[in-house]
Amino acid sequence: MSSDAWDLDRRHAWHPFTPFDEWLAPGHEPVFVESGRGAVLVDREGREYLDGNSSIWTNLHGHGHPRIAGAIKAQLDRIAHSSYLGLAHEPGARLAAELCRRMGFDPGRAFFSDDGSTAVEAALKLAIQYFHQNGAPERTLFLRVGGGYHGDTLGAVSVGRSEVFHRAYAPLLFPTEEVSSPACYRCPHNRAQPEAADARTYAQCNRECVGEVAAALERRGAGTAAFVIEPRVQGAAGMTMHPEGYLAGVAPLVREAGAFLIADEVLTGFGRTGTMLASEKEGVAPDFVALAKGLTGGYLPMGATLVREAVADGFRGGLERTFFHGHSYTGNPLGCAAARANLETFEAERTLETIAVRAETLRKASQVFWTLPNAGDVRQEGMILAVELVRDRATREPFPAAARLAHRIGEEARRHGLLTRGLGGTLFLLPPYCSSDAEVERMVDILFRAAQKVLAE
Ligand code: PLP
Repeated sequence: MSSDAWDLDRRHAWHPFTPFDEWLAPGHEPVFVESGRGAVLVDREGREYLDGNSSIWTNLHGHGHPRIAGAIKAQLDRIAHSSYLGLAHEPGARLAAELCRRMGFDPGRAFFSDDGSTAVEAALKLAIQYFHQNGAPERTLFLRVGGGYHGDTLGAVSVGRSEVFHRAYAPLLFPTEEVSSPACYRCPHNRAQPEAADARTYAQCNRECVGEVAAALERRGAGTAAFVIEPRVQGAAGMTMHPEGYLAGVAPLVREAGAFLIADEVLTGFGRTGTMLASEKEGVAPDFVALAKGLTGGYLPMGATLVREAVADGFRGGLERTFFHGHSYTGNPLGCAAARANLETFEAERTLETIAVRAETLRKASQVFWTLPNAGDVRQEGMILAVELVRDRATREPFPAAARLAHRIGEEARRHGLLTRGLGGTLFLLPPYCSSDAEVERMVDILFRAAQKVLAE
């Protein structure tokens, strides 16, 4: 048996979200990532690539960051893991306190888990159990936003269904109530053309999207446990971006209906949209916040669900009121150490200020995409850029999914030293915050040229 890693991978590995036949097709050669430094990944042949999707939206301060790597190594010398069930440790206690303070959850608590899906799953179960044991067992419904994605565990799938991803699991999912995604470019209520390059500036918006939530709560509010939302940017929906004031508009409606607001900030948290939480931009304080991805700066898998003390109070008591939920690696000390170093880096390097500067560079550079005749929408929030390519700009007719446009453009970009993954006909660029202005400009340039080439074919 050959010991070549590619050969072994082809025979034994199973990659997420990856069609087998494409992976195993003759001639396909994936990038074997060997090392990384800053915003650059290096493959086993020594070729360098800009990490244009921050290693699936996780990496913030760059690869090989001395503070985060050092914190993990120092923790490793003490202990790699011990149980969090009935035991405590310093990195966990300090991280919980720092997260609550930094994210506006004091008084409040952090419930640790393994990733984004489990952070959302914990929030869903906490909401249901809270009502179950605090006099409102009829509140079992989740209101969710169309096109939302919250992870791949079955609870998370129930509140974030995708026809393509989740068709087979339909019999296993619990019923929910959906409201339309308030994604302006494909707004079902308003077909007006955007006034400016920013497609979120519409002439005739009457906030029908907020009205839709009000109507859903009117109908189902008494039985609703929570409204689940990705604040301001719906990642896997295609980096669709909500209009200013949508979250601020729906949050009081949810509260008046007596339901919880669960903010899934797995993508948007830790500065990705320019503020520590995207909810902050709207002056909204959710009842639960799910965090993962950037929590450890993109170094180790970890999730956290932030919960207000008033909610935790609903679990005070004995065995019968306990949250019977957790994982073997809950509160893993290495993850906690990495997450603390991540938060320290935000302070030490004034990362939010850097993000503002890099986001402006990204905004300026990305205007070039409007020169593509197929550019339908070029939208940005902080360090998230999406370029939605359409067959016809006037009608906004999308490219068929089978054209796999973003995939083909991503492959072309890879040949020129940029790694990024879009979805359908929409290109994404989410640079690590440590990227220099020149690196951001180069990412845009490579992606633009790749789009130009593939669209011309
Ligand atoms: N929530 C959002 C908004 C996400 O974008 C994702 C992943 O992309 C998840 C949850 C799931 O996170 P994970 O892949 O870490 O389980």
